[in-house]
Amino acid sequence: MKKLYLLLPILMVQSIFAQTANLIREESLMKRVEFLTSPKLQGRLAGSEYYNAAASYGAEEFGKAGLKPFGGEKYFQYLNIEYNQILPGEEFSVIRADGSEKKCEIGKDYIYRGFSGSGNITAPVVFCGYGISDSLYDDYKSVDLNGKIAMVFKYQPKWNIEKHVWQNGNPREKARIAFQHGAVGILYVSFPNDDKPQLPIASVISGSGEQNINFPELHIDLPIADEILNGTEFTLKNLQTKIDSTKNPFSVSTKNKVKIKVETDYAKEKKTMNVVGLLEGKDDKLKNEYIIIGAHLDHVGGQGGKVYFPGANDNASGSAAVMEIAHAFAEGKIENKRSIIFVLFTCEEQGLYGAKYLANHLPVKQEQVVAMMNMDCVGFGDSIQIGNGKSAPQLWQIAKQIDVNNDKMMIETTWNGGGADAAPFHDKGIPAIYFVTKNSYEHLHELTDKPETLNKSLYQQITKLAFLTVKEIAEGKYQKENVLK
Ligand SMILES: [Zn+2]
Repeated sequence: MKKLYLLLPILMVQSIFAQTANLIREESLMKRVEFLTSPKLQGRLAGSEYYNAAASYGAEEFGKAGLKPFGGEKYFQYLNIEYNQILPGEEFSVIRADGSEKKCEIGKDYIYRGFSGSGNITAPVVFCGYGISDSLYDDYKSVDLNGKIAMVFKYQPKWNIEKHVWQNGNPREKARIAFQHGAVGILYVSFPNDDKPQLPIASVISGSGEQNINFPELHIDLPIADEILNGTEFTLKNLQTKIDSTKNPFSVSTKNKVKIKVETDYAKEKKTMNVVGLLEGKDDKLKNEYIIIGAHLDHVGGQGGKVYFPGANDNASGSAAVMEIAHAFAEGKIENKRSIIFVLFTCEEQGLYGAKYLANHLPVKQEQVVAMMNMDCVGFGDSIQIGNGKSAPQLWQIAKQIDVNNDKMMIETTWNGGGADAAPFHDKGIPAIYFVTKNSYEHLHELTDKPETLNKSLYQQITKLAFLTVKEIAEGKYQKENVLK
């Protein structure tokens, strides 16, 4: 009797967990991910009709989950963004000194930068180190780049020279510097001397400044870079070694040319939208307090009508999780006292533009928002980590306690200062936490970020943890904490 008395509360707690946990299902999460990564949605580039189709699907799912439209125009909160699409008909090849041609394969040998310009050129290639040009360090000094194509390291040096700070080195800046020196296009290369050199990846990050619509920008694979250097006495590896060891510019005219043919559809301003839905609180007083749970729905799109980047982990996983959690509240008839705003953000990949827009145009007063939860890349990896716990330790602790009573998959590692789409909310003084799996980025922005690579049980576990966390906050026990910087 005594034993049973002790056991009963534990059994009850466990069965509540089991009950609510059953509301988050691996099959339905994966079904959503399958749809979001399907060819029909072509990698969900913000501003494209494919992203819009994903957003319509999100709105439909929010409707089915009983959420009220909360975006301004139905579920949609509109904003304008910069947009660029690589059109069909593109080609890239290396033309060797003997006239022979090596046709390259998009997605493997090269990937266009999201904000590549158009061009139809065959021109010699000059290797120009880091592509830096200032008064203290100049890769373009005594280089004839007129009508040629620059090949430069994608990132800035990991070292520095005395009293010198590198510019940010974003692609648009490197492209502009090369263009100013007479180049007609640019090839970015990863560091060959890294332990695990980065493969060409798709990225729509550009940096500030005007778009050069007639200036192709590609990220090429290391073997292609060495093919281009063939005929000189250098490989890319020993060029990097030479520059990094001397901390001096060293540029090389190659013997080979490349052919680039690409057309893009650029728009300075294109309409896109966040998808926003409201689950009203069931307590007369607490319903005026809000929790935001969000994930970015966009990814980096497709290129040339030949390839698209499915973004299963990044971030079909988080988007599907947010939809699944919305459904779980409805299906489980959860008595949330506080109101919950569910969001699918647009345009994270370019620079968190959807999240920034919502943080600056909240449909409620900022003081009414007690917590923000972000889910980004939650389907691949080996354990659960919750970021920004150093800035919102009480939120982090709620999740940790739930994990301890549950799957025990959450590690201690965390950070401060926000992170991804949590950052714009954190910056405004809203306590935020960021759900992400550990070792999540193996396939990041690659063609291989597909549903079949996901760790499905971990994905279900982190979604369940997010659900139970938002549920607990919505029950009203948590008091809004002061954000630590
Ligand atoms: Zn991404």
